[in-house]
Amino acid sequence: MTEPSPRAYVPFVSVDAMMALVHRIGLAEMLTGIANYIEADFLRWEEFDKTPRVAAHSPDGVIELMPTSDGQLYGFKYVNGHPKNVKNGMQTVMAFGLLAHVDTGAPVLFTEMTLLTALRTAAMSALAARHLARPDARVMAMIGNGAQAEFQALAFGAICGIEEVRLFDIDPAATAKVARNLACSELRVVRCRSAEDAIEGAQIITTCTADKANATVLTDNLVGAGVHINAVGGDCPGKTELHRDILERAQIFVEYPPQTRIEGEIQQLDPDHPVTELWQVMAGESTGRRDELAITLFDSVGFAIEDFAALRYINDQVQASGTTQKLDLLADPDDPRDLFGMLQRAAPAQAA
Ligand code: NAD
Repeated sequence: MTEPSPRAYVPFVSVDAMMALVHRIGLAEMLTGIANYIEADFLRWEEFDKTPRVAAHSPDGVIELMPTSDGQLYGFKYVNGHPKNVKNGMQTVMAFGLLAHVDTGAPVLFTEMTLLTALRTAAMSALAARHLARPDARVMAMIGNGAQAEFQALAFGAICGIEEVRLFDIDPAATAKVARNLACSELRVVRCRSAEDAIEGAQIITTCTADKANATVLTDNLVGAGVHINAVGGDCPGKTELHRDILERAQIFVEYPPQTRIEGEIQQLDPDHPVTELWQVMAGESTGRRDELAITLFDSVGFAIEDFAALRYINDQVQASGTTQKLDLLADPDDPRDLFGMLQRAAPAQAA
């Protein structure tokens, strides 16, 4: 069988290649690098095509497509969210994505994005906290110790200077896993028996649980003045983590309001409840934390521009290192209009 011509191959980053890239660059540096790319793209927010992600809901979960473009490049991510998967040995969140040239539609890069989603979500969370949390925050409660948890903890260490993480999960095995994985990090790791115990002395509270329900991971009485809440796990209609009373007391910051009103914690509030767009805080157009007693809440759901920025970051890294595989994804007839004729490349050889 004839090989496609070299120009037809799409650079592909496999899971193996992504793992190797993380080790070569270093996790802290990669999280910081992705955060810088996200911030750069948030600062040119108006240049992007934006739409709430396209979601296909089912009783057990959701499958979503997340597209955006800056006019030069187009990106999309395929991602799911199925909290019950873990019981069957599968991940709650799995993803892959693509970056393409707008002027031709030709793909630039195709990549795994399960690891990349964990990295970009953690980078985004820590970036938001850098703008919203009190600068003297050194202790973070980490409620929900699943697949995202270590990435979150390490991003807050690298980007916000967090020194202690206080872990809680309803499944002690999950907490033990995170404690084991973070044992070699510079973070001080404390295992806790309850959410209440975990938030003791914490200036930042991250909730990153998975349950397809309007859960109450945090109640209002647990949240003291001056705390920053990084609410990651409520990201789908009917899937929230915080008691509504917390939302009423907090200054609320979001990525893209039309999507967050559907998916975020604020789905519990009136549709005109005031929220601030994070990009405006980064651009100096809106105030972030009002004062040191305010409760700030980043109602994270994950927005396409964050994935676009992460794709750009990975593309720049792999272009520099040439570590992609060649994926035979695109048909490449010798004459662009002779797609049918291209089939002959795979025709069985005629007997002489
Ligand atoms: P996971 O299934 O691997 O882990 C979730 C953990 O939450 C489990 O260990 C579970 O035992 C724990 N948990 C469930 N209910 C709890 C409760 N009431 N209190 C304490 N712990 C509880 O999932 P994951 O991949 O770590 O993702 C976590 C959440 O983050 C999911 O809901 C996912 O959809 C969401 N997520 C959001 C973004 C974003 O950008 N906002 C990105 C990725 C994932």
